[in-house]
Amino acid sequence: MSCPRCGDRGRVVTDVTLRAQVSAPRLAALDALDAWRRCLGAGCDVAYFRGAEIIDRADVPALARHADDDPERLVCFCFEHTAAALTAPGGAALRAAIADACRDGQDACEQKNPKGRCCLGDVDALLRAAAPPALVISAPSGGCSCCCGDD
Ligand SMILES: [Zn+2]
Repeated sequence: MSCPRCGDRGRVVTDVTLRAQVSAPRLAALDALDAWRRCLGAGCDVAYFRGAEIIDRADVPALARHADDDPERLVCFCFEHTAAALTAPGGAALRAAIADACRDGQDACEQKNPKGRCCLGDVDALLRAAAPPALVISAPSGGCSCCCGDD
């Protein structure tokens, strides 16, 4: 099971994510909503794949608006923080605010994030890439431990 276009292994998404993310006409045309994976290949135009079947980024409004390297792309979809905002001064504080809001149950990652999971792993990767490790105060290694478990 890997992306037919780029070979990325992707990550399993649930029908909850597909129903929230995929445009209505494309969603209606799908035979099944199980066993889909989100392609995470850099620059790949496949949003989701299931065997040889694909859903293009163009059919996923949250992904169609911005390229993967666009500073204005959303990284935190629940609270709508862009890559530019998160890497600006104050980004670490935004990260802390996201984690607090998730702990309070205000997030809706499975619906709002095209990956169907918490954004904090992506936020931390972005912060690590943008700043020397010593400046990234609050980022633990790995993913989110506040709302979806650490992976
Ligand atoms: Zn791909």
